Amino acid sequence: MKRVVLLGSPVAHSLSPVIQNAAFQVSGLDWCYEAIETEAEELEPALDRMRAEAWPGANVTLPLKETVVPLLDVLDPSAVEVSAVNTIVNDGGRLVGHNTDSLGFVRDLRAHWQVPADGVAVILGAGGAARAVASGLARQGLEIVLIARSPERARVLAEDLRRTHAAKVGVLPWIGASFAQIPEHCVLVVNATPLGMAPADQDTPWPPEVPLPPGAVVYDLVYTPKETRFQQYARQSGLQSMPGGGMLLEQGALSYERWTGRRAPRRQMRAALHRALERLHA
Ligand code: NDP
Repeated sequence: MKRVVLLGSPVAHSLSPVIQNAAFQVSGLDWCYEAIETEAEELEPALDRMRAEAWPGANVTLPLKETVVPLLDVLDPSAVEVSAVNTIVNDGGRLVGHNTDSLGFVRDLRAHWQVPADGVAVILGAGGAARAVASGLARQGLEIVLIARSPERARVLAEDLRRTHAAKVGVLPWIGASFAQIPEHCVLVVNATPLGMAPADQDTPWPPEVPLPPGAVVYDLVYTPKETRFQQYARQSGLQSMPGGGMLLEQGALSYERWTGRRAPRRQMRAALHRALERLHA
């Protein structure tokens, strides 16, 4: 049996094994997908093992998506664009880094919302997922405003976006006043922090006393609970909001396609994800 692994920490809560194992099963592949708790210092030995044991591929999750970049042999253009890797393909011992988060996010967003040709997208956070989201939105031609807790991480991301996409990017500090200062032509607010994720589901990235920009839509990368506090606030404010499950599914389907060279069985993957989420919310 061939192994595909998820490397990161924490990974116990991840639904990627459910989605990928369902896909391997319906495709008749004798493959299994396994989450391996991996700290930064354990990453290089895990990659050596991947080469030695000929694992076809891996996913990389927080907090290792940027750490893994210099440890790989080659980067696919999708990873160069984002400077972060969430998918590794083992090409005969040569480890190739890809990023399917960015396209996965954009595809899911476009499936639910007609992305306008211009306007401002506000992204909360400046980590690996924020990088993928920002890159995808800059590619759509949107102006980006980052609100992030670590000013240095936000500054580096903003510079990368200006260099790679010639994007217009602003950075605001993680203080209440920043949320009240959002430009009027804001069309989208994306939560790319873990705030609101179960079990800490009473947390929210958006200060409850600050109104959301009228006319914007909200996308929360967090997908447990079913409706996050942030999404609930958007709904109560009369705004459309989208949960992160769609991105999870699409980035996973794209990873599957990179590893296997086959079209992903999205319908069955979606059904497996849906069942797992229902069990979690029961
Ligand atoms: P990272 O650890 O790389 O980045 C997290 C970001 O959130 C950083 O900017 C971090 O700030 C910020 N942050 C964390 N805690 C707080 C806090 N208490 N207050 C303010 N800012 C905070 O993680 P990822 O970018 O990989 O993932 C972020 C979230 O997105 C996770 O919940 C992850 O599960 C989800 N995700 C969902 C996907 C999907 O398919 N739906 C795909 C990828 C991720 P700092 O740098 O200061 O620590």
